Amino acid sequence: MSAVDRPAWLPWLQQPLVDALHQLNSHAVLLHGPEGVGQFEFALALARSWLCEASAVGQVFQPACGRCVSCHLIDAGSHPDLMVVLPEALQASLGWQSAADDADAAEKSSTSKTKKLSQDVKVDAIRAVVQFSQHTASRGRAKVVLVYPAERMNLIAANTLLKTLEEPPGQVRFVLSGASLEQLLPTVRSRCQAWHLPLPDAEVASSWLHTQLDRISPAEARVLLDAAGGQPLTARDRQKLGLDAAYWPQIPKDLLNGVATALTQWPLTLVVETLQKVCHDLACVAVGAGPRYFPRDSLPVIADIDRLTHWAQELSKVSRHAEHPWNQGLKVETLLLQARAVMRPKPTRGNPRS
Ligand SMILES: [Zn+2]
Repeated sequence: MSAVDRPAWLPWLQQPLVDALHQLNSHAVLLHGPEGVGQFEFALALARSWLCEASAVGQVFQPACGRCVSCHLIDAGSHPDLMVVLPEALQASLGWQSAADDADAAEKSSTSKTKKLSQDVKVDAIRAVVQFSQHTASRGRAKVVLVYPAERMNLIAANTLLKTLEEPPGQVRFVLSGASLEQLLPTVRSRCQAWHLPLPDAEVASSWLHTQLDRISPAEARVLLDAAGGQPLTARDRQKLGLDAAYWPQIPKDLLNGVATALTQWPLTLVVETLQKVCHDLACVAVGAGPRYFPRDSLPVIADIDRLTHWAQELSKVSRHAEHPWNQGLKVETLLLQARAVMRPKPTRGNPRS
């Protein structure tokens, strides 16, 4: 494995890391929680701490020192006792590339232009994990396998891992991490000690976001964080896709008035996600609850909960088929018309009470 441009440490992970190192006592950890809070970074920090050579063997684990040989090897992506297993599609964005990929990097970059990179954790990678687990640790501390997102293992891959997870050779530790772990085999889940990584404190997360993005105020950082449901890494990524903090609160009313043309410039997945958030918050307001993604005063009151429920179902169908080769422009236009129809239905003629 080689590491490139890995993002800096995320401040809200420090205390959970200390707690996890003190409380986890199983050889296999199942890290779960929302996306966009740094699950991969947390899993890697656990692995780094387990392998760190600064403390004596047998002592309670501490966060990695960042200075010993082991820490440097992990930073260089070449620790012989660490195996990081990711789908191809995530390797570049998380700053990890497998050794096999290094060998044919040129071929890979040309292939990636023509062929979509896999979103799955492949069974071959899990077979390599089984092999890796059989050998004793090169540096004598431990061996660590990190699989992320664990729910992207298909049935065959998960079954292949099961035996090693059940009867791990002496020094091997596993950290499986993901956001939809209900999709994971129950037999795999039951072999692991679960650890929940929660959403970070909003103040800490929005201050971090403010330092990460150019030309946004602290208040705008908070708008972006709320728009991402409190997930700071998601907020950062959405802003890079074109989500504008100054425009976000205007979206519900622009949809109502049929003038949300800015959304036609966004990727379809972001449009669908945004409409789902509008729909969610309109439903919250309709039943007297507080909205989650938009400021309360940006949301019109839509009393017809049945219409909102039907809209939510329609959006969910589109979201499940996000990989479908839609005509992007046409699909977005249809979705915007549908939003307007839900939010401003045509008045029925001949209302007997009028
Ligand atoms: Zn160290």
